[in-house]
Formats: sequence, structure tokens, C-alpha cells
Amino acid sequence: MKRTPYFYLVLFIAKLTRRLLLMLGRNATNFPGELAIWLCKSFIGRMPKPEKVVCITGTNGKTTVANLVEDVLDRTGADFYCNRNGSNVYSGVASLLISNSDWRGRPTKKLAVFELDERSSNLILPYMRPDLMLCTNIFRDSYKRNAHPEFILDFLNKYIPDGVPMILNADDMMCSGLKPGNPRTYFSIAKQPGDGGGSRNIVQDVPACPKCGGELEWDFRRYHHIGRAVCKECGFASPRAEYTVTELTGTDMQADVRGRTCRFPLANSAYINVYNSLAAIALLCELGLTPETIAGALGSIGISATRYMEEEANGRKAILHLAKGQNPVACSRAFENIRDYPGKKAVILFLDDFFDAQHTVENISWLYDADFEFLADQSVVQLIAAGTRHWDVYLRLLLAGVPAEKIDHMPNTDGAAEALRTEEPDSVFILYDVYTISLAEDTQRLVMERLKKEAAKNAD
Ligand SMILES: [Zn+2]
Repeated sequence: MKRTPYFYLVLFIAKLTRRLLLMLGRNATNFPGELAIWLCKSFIGRMPKPEKVVCITGTNGKTTVANLVEDVLDRTGADFYCNRNGSNVYSGVASLLISNSDWRGRPTKKLAVFELDERSSNLILPYMRPDLMLCTNIFRDSYKRNAHPEFILDFLNKYIPDGVPMILNADDMMCSGLKPGNPRTYFSIAKQPGDGGGSRNIVQDVPACPKCGGELEWDFRRYHHIGRAVCKECGFASPRAEYTVTELTGTDMQADVRGRTCRFPLANSAYINVYNSLAAIALLCELGLTPETIAGALGSIGISATRYMEEEANGRKAILHLAKGQNPVACSRAFENIRDYPGKKAVILFLDDFFDAQHTVENISWLYDADFEFLADQSVVQLIAAGTRHWDVYLRLLLAGVPAEKIDHMPNTDGAAEALRTEEPDSVFILYDVYTISLAEDTQRLVMERLKKEAAKNAD
């Protein structure tokens, strides 16, 4: 796109606004870009881009994958920038292009890594062609924002430019079918002990062959529609992957990387974490890093990431776990991880969607698509639901088979830590949404104080 004098004027105004905001100690992650797009609709298209642009999208895990990729790039001294602060909508992307350029708009870094919200792809991809695009998975998300997974698939197919090399999840028949004409690389986790044929989840969004509607024969179905299958009618099958995890231990994974056997450290062996790590590894390899370099960098990151999420006192833990409200699959993954976590667990649920909660939380249908049944396990000793929709969560837990005496619930999120019965659990999980991280961290601090007090009392 042509760069007119008007474009340079808009760039100047946006840069000046950014300077002023920073001088005033204000946040400049969105507004300069928003202003630039308001003044010039095609601003992103007119802005010069770095030599290489990488986009990371998908329903779940895109933030984690982007963070992992960025941490590895950081440790290897790469010349790059990224939208780490969660500004994954178009104004955030425009703001980053502005802040990482000189006064004439020329980029100051060679590589840009953008986490891209699926619903913003129409506002960004027509103006910024990625050199590499990764999609983690396609699942059901907030119905209000994302309708259903086929809608998101169509949306991405429409806006991802032809010819852009794709990195896709081979174990997700919806994700693996994205942009069928584009060059592609796949990642996969081979069948593991415990992977069965039947789905234990309420939601399964690939009930039949995505190509012909025929009956699928599943080699295994890991959770929801994640697994490997072949169509009995037309032969359409889950693709073979270039990056395949072959073996998992508690602390690392063995993977086949384009025919080479490599090992990578793992901070956490829950499948969602393995998929996220694997996606990041595939992307970094495609960017030209060696598996050895990636493994070395991941080793040091894993530990810090775990420390960030877990606090420990006298062998008992308070653990933050992401479980996006309105997103039944993200919640089901969290519930299953909690069930499988060793020891006795208490769970604090902050499940109201932050944006919905500011007005009214109208849609509760997703509660009935999330597998609360995983929480009706003997090892879960207490559940605390806090927030506007606490009665709905309470009802859902009862229907899932959780005994009423195990559940506490309240409208006010401040009371959650206080309701904890500290004598029972070995670990306390705090489920939170990306936008309620400060609430979750405050609660974690309160829970830690209570666990420490309990330990001191027992020591007396
Ligand atoms: Zn078929």
C-alpha cells in the first residue's frame, strides 16, 4: 500500500501520543494504534513490516505458545518484538508496529511475533501478510463472541492469505484442515498409554468426517475431538506429522523432529502443556533454531514458569490454573488436570467472564458443555464458587454429582479464600480467567497466608 503524506502525518501523531502517554506514566499498548486506525483505516497495511512476521492463533493455548516462543527467542538473543501484554487485537498490533519503528515508520527489529485473536484476523491479516502462521487448535469458545467452531474455521479460512506456510495440530481434524491449499507442517502427540477410543467429554465437535460427513473410525480420542481418526467412507485421515511427541515422562518428552529423535524438558506433563510446548518447538524449528538450542532454553524457562504459578508452604501448594469463563473446553481441561493431580484438592472457581460480568452474565449454557463431572472425584475435598453466577455454578456442581456439603458459594469474590477449610487439602487450585489474574493472585496470597497459619498452629 502507498505511503501518502497523510499516512506520515498519522504516524507522527500516533508516535507523539505514545511519547506523551509514556511521559505521563500511562499505558500505551493500545491507544496509539487505535488512534492511528481511527485516522487511517488501512494504517496497518501502510506501515512497513519487519523482515519476518509470525502469527500465532487458535482457540486455546495461543498466549502460552507465544510466551514460550518469545522466552526461547529472548534467551537465544534474537532481534525481535512481540505483543506479550495481551494486546492481541488490531489496535495492539498497530501500537506495536508504531513503537518498534523509527519516525519514518521503518522497523527497528527483524522479526515480529504476534499472538492473534481469531476474531481479529479480519482486521489484521488483509493488511499484514504473515511469513509463518501457527494454529494451536480450534475449539468451541465463548458462544457470544465466537459462535461455533465451524464459524471460526470459515473465518480463518477466509482471512488467512493463500500461500502462507501453516503450522497445524495434526490431532485436531478441524485445525489440520485449515487453508488446505497452503504449504503446511504438522505437530502431533502419538498414542500414549491411557488414550482410549471413546470420548469422556460432553462436547465433541468433530462427530463425523469433516470432508464427506461419513463415519469416522478413531484410532484414539484423547479428549473432545483431539485424537486420530480415518473416515470409513472417503479415507480422509488425520495427517502425518513432522513433529511428533513419542514418549512422555514426568519431566521431559521424546520427540521425532523431522526424522531425528530429540528430548525436550517439560514443566508439566498435562496434555495441554505438552501440545503448547510442542507447537512452540515446531514453530522455533521452522524459524531455523536447532532442537538442542530450543531444549536448552526451555529447560531454564520451565522452572520459572512453574514457580510463577505455584506457591508452596510446608509441602502444601496454592496453584493458579487458567480456565477461561465461557469456554467449556478450557474449563474441562482444567477440571481433568485437577482430578489427576496427586493428593487431596480444594478448588476455588472464578468462572464469570470478566467482560460479561461488568454488564450482565447472560449466557450460562456453556456450564452444561463443560465437564464439571471431573470435579465429582473423591480426591476433591472442597469447591468454592465465587462471583455473580455462583448459584448457577453451584447447581451445575450438584448436577455433576458433587455432594452439597463439599460446596461453598458466594457472590463476592473477596470471600473465597476465607471460605477455605485449610485442614483438609494438600493443594488449593485457583481457577481464573486471563482478565482476572490480579484477583487470582490476591486470592493465592490469602490462601498462602492461611496455609502458613495452619502449619504454624500445627507446629505449636
Ligand atoms: Zn469422509
